[in-house]
Amino acid sequence: MSSRLIKGYFKIVLQLLLLFFTVSVITSCAKKDVTSVKTIFIGSTEIRVELISRSPAREHIFLQLHDNEQTSAITAHRMVQASGGSFLRIENNHLRNITFRLDNALYAFDPNRIFSSPGIKKTLEENGQYDEAVEEEVNRFADSLLSMLRDKVIVALHNNSNGRYSVRKYLDDLKSNAAAVHINEVMDEDDFIYTTSNELFIALRHLNINVVLQDHEQVEDDGSLSVYCGRNQIVYVNVETEHGHEEEQYRLTKVVLNLLSRPLINK
Ligand SMILES: [Zn+2]
Repeated sequence: MSSRLIKGYFKIVLQLLLLFFTVSVITSCAKKDVTSVKTIFIGSTEIRVELISRSPAREHIFLQLHDNEQTSAITAHRMVQASGGSFLRIENNHLRNITFRLDNALYAFDPNRIFSSPGIKKTLEENGQYDEAVEEEVNRFADSLLSMLRDKVIVALHNNSNGRYSVRKYLDDLKSNAAAVHINEVMDEDDFIYTTSNELFIALRHLNINVVLQDHEQVEDDGSLSVYCGRNQIVYVNVETEHGHEEEQYRLTKVVLNLLSRPLINK
């Protein structure tokens, strides 16, 4: 065999090896969602909490507390598909409030009103009945959720109905909850961002996006996660849009993630 022929064979083998290597790398990099489900008992009722993760891991976690807010579920899924990270959601048959049974009685609460003792008491009363043993049970559920959010920047996603809850409320009857408000007259007032982070507020105002900064001293302690985060120095952002405003919620969430990747805001 001539040396030219040997060189030719050698070149082909090398090219095949390179191709094999490239295909292996691409295959091993193909990203997949990893879903884990945690079952938490409240009284004798089983609540499923789902965590969807995808590489790369990120410093934030998306959170959907209200299972009736399906636009938020779509947004969080899209965001995880596009940029990795994780998404925690409560499975509650597409309902907002969670109903459970304890000692043959039924109780109900709003899962975003359980992060303080006065909040739990109020939401149980508003949705039926309250007693101390029941508060303990709901508090245990809140602690389980908080343990799954630990050390993360929380990006909560919520949806509202047209005209019922908006950025303008923070200039009116919810005024005392806000340290500062910025309104873009062109945006829908139902689409806005609510945050505990002053740096994030300033950056969003600079981008002319509807935004509310929570006043941690004055805010009513209704047991919302934002109040808990404000009091515990946790960066919390809620991307709140009207039901069905899928593209706007996706756009706003993308803006928030870009800002969160700046070093100042996470510190
Ligand atoms: Zn909600």
